[in-house]
Amino acid sequence: MQRELYIIFSIYAFAMGAATGSFLNVVIWRTPRGESIVRPPSHCPKCGARIRWWQNLPILSWLMLRGKCANCKKPISPRYILVESLVAVLFLLAWYKYGVLAPFMWVWLSLMVVGSFIDYDLQVLPDFVTVGGMIYGVALSVLGIVFLHWPATELFVSLGGLAAGFGVMWLIRYLGTKAFKREAMGMGDVFLMGAIGAIFGPVAACFTLMAAAVVGSIAGLGMIALNKARLGKFVAIPFGPYLCAGCTVWMFWGPQILDWYFALLGLRA
Ligand SMILES: [Zn+2]
Repeated sequence: MQRELYIIFSIYAFAMGAATGSFLNVVIWRTPRGESIVRPPSHCPKCGARIRWWQNLPILSWLMLRGKCANCKKPISPRYILVESLVAVLFLLAWYKYGVLAPFMWVWLSLMVVGSFIDYDLQVLPDFVTVGGMIYGVALSVLGIVFLHWPATELFVSLGGLAAGFGVMWLIRYLGTKAFKREAMGMGDVFLMGAIGAIFGPVAACFTLMAAAVVGSIAGLGMIALNKARLGKFVAIPFGPYLCAGCTVWMFWGPQILDWYFALLGLRA
């Protein structure tokens, strides 16, 4: 591909991600509250003032307004610019990694961002992310077989991944619930792992679980260090964001990390 075209597509991916992130902020805030995502138009949650289009430009407006409402000057959560920048970077990375197939990954990345933030806020993973993700994964493999001449066995990889992700997580939930004598995790996490397996296959599902455990332990130790949690005390930690982080690592660097790890164990010639 021509260099100029490649750069134009990169800028497009970043801008598309920022704009999508802006929309996802609305989804994250409104769907758990049962509000419509189109009406009413964007308004300041503190003073109710309508937000004009030039005050609603992804990333830029937050910086221009210095994180304050133009009307009442109350602070606007830095989460808005955080989500917009995060999705912009993820869309750009997906373009570098997946090329013209990137838009299919953009859909899943968007669902993971929405799921992670809603889970962080409310300890619940929406069905449209988890069950939707499982359906999306199987549908992608069928589309690939029909239009991109993927081998028909891709469907078994997808269904096998769904079964593996769902099954392993269901077992952890079952054992955890028995050990703690209370619900150790929600079914949302089980469905989420089913979705990751359906989209990326069984190896990715196992990788995601281990990566999530590593990321979760580091975050947990960090919280203990900051005195926000205590060892041995049962705290409900939303697992969804860690699983999504693990899946994202797989999407961009998973196979390289596996190669490195197996070489470290001396399992490769
Ligand atoms: Zn305001």
